[in-house]
Amino acid sequence: MTLTRNDYTIGWINALPLEMACAKAMLDKTHPKLPQLPQDHNTYVLGEIFHHNVVIACLPSGISGTTSAATVATQMLSTFSRIRFGLMVGIGGGVPSPENDVRLGDVVVSNPQGKFGGVVQYDYGKAVRDGMFLRMGVLNKPPNVVLTAVSELQSNHLMGISRIPEFLGGMLQRYPGMTQFAYPASKEDLLFESLYDHHVDAGAGARSCRGCDRSRVVARPQRDSTDPVVHYGLIASGNQVVKSAAVRDRLSGQLGQDVLSFEMEAAGLMDGFPCLVVRGISDYADSHKNNDWQAYAAAVATAYAKEFLSCVSVAQTENIPDVLDINSLDPSIDSERDKIYHFFRKSLPQGIPERDESLEEPLKVTMLKELMTWKYHAQGPWHLWLERFVVDGYNLNVRDGWGRTPLHYVVEAKDNRLVKVRKLLEKGADMTMMDYEGNTPVDLAQHLGDIAVQSFLLRAWLAGRGHPAGPVSADGV
Ligand SMILES: [Zn+2]
Repeated sequence: MTLTRNDYTIGWINALPLEMACAKAMLDKTHPKLPQLPQDHNTYVLGEIFHHNVVIACLPSGISGTTSAATVATQMLSTFSRIRFGLMVGIGGGVPSPENDVRLGDVVVSNPQGKFGGVVQYDYGKAVRDGMFLRMGVLNKPPNVVLTAVSELQSNHLMGISRIPEFLGGMLQRYPGMTQFAYPASKEDLLFESLYDHHVDAGAGARSCRGCDRSRVVARPQRDSTDPVVHYGLIASGNQVVKSAAVRDRLSGQLGQDVLSFEMEAAGLMDGFPCLVVRGISDYADSHKNNDWQAYAAAVATAYAKEFLSCVSVAQTENIPDVLDINSLDPSIDSERDKIYHFFRKSLPQGIPERDESLEEPLKVTMLKELMTWKYHAQGPWHLWLERFVVDGYNLNVRDGWGRTPLHYVVEAKDNRLVKVRKLLEKGADMTMMDYEGNTPVDLAQHLGDIAVQSFLLRAWLAGRGHPAGPVSADGV
């Protein structure tokens, strides 16, 4: 049976390629890729874990942070509109405290605490500038099906039943080349006192703690096993890397003792994309932070997420409402049109197109003259112009010196806008082209408050995404 986009119910997001490597390696089955929608810039890995169809995407290389995560999630939801909930799986900085014995290679899972849904967004920049902490928002908690599966898994772990070692072992057996993801037995787990900063030992590399004073290491009891301990609580999410124990402890003190990890993506997801955040602890968010534990931490987080999916029934997942099925939205309803418009904007490339005169066609002068005629006189020779250009095979997506295409002008035409817009779309005009100010024809309709034209364009956009959203007619209804 061939799967379609609508068969995928779990959206899995990684921030780093090494996290995605673990996700791919722990799939029970890998599915063939589906044709990519032109406006979706994510790269997906599709597969199956415990009969759940999972779609995996990774943030663009080197671009971390909540905004990047939000863009990836929006595009994922726009393409895979039947996703029920998300998993954000990867590494994070641990927040050890007398109450929470968080160690390297442990797992921290977001869990609602008091008024928080599991993830707390903070703005570290403002915290520093104003000398005070500013909490930015309380983010949505995941659906109940997710939380009850977490409870079940938690109780299994309390009984000493964990499948994490099994999944790690299975991954290493199937992919013997992934040795760097094994437990880093030769690396130490050193937690230094908060007030003791990293010292560089010239011969050992900047990130090595060989030059650091061992008498300042916090004494912690030896554990019986190297298997990861799973902690449940709050995850603090912001756009800055926390790499100072003083900042870490101050922020977590202000947020409350339940903050167990700092990371940089989840806050971009939780509002529009309810998800469970799973963080393998790779450092202590202090100045001693290095990469020694990253690969293993990514692997344990992935193994936890896989075990979590073993506790979620496929049937229950089917019953969760879609996060957002934009194809079922109706662009003629104000609030729904806003949502589709948001998705349309998010689907476009970031930034404004560079001016490139070589792409502007030599016929632009003639064309512009005609266009200006329509623009300023209600009775322009529309049909003649269009027939001539289309019959002669000219490119309807030609730009002029402002980066505008004929469709941009038609949206601003004085009369019969819908008829003209429809004609151009039928002939292959592209409504996603931005002018040199970053406006697409859809944006112009938005600025003009032309609801009919904008609804029409958005309906056509939805239809063009391979999900027919009703017949497109000249009157936009
Ligand atoms: Zn150090």
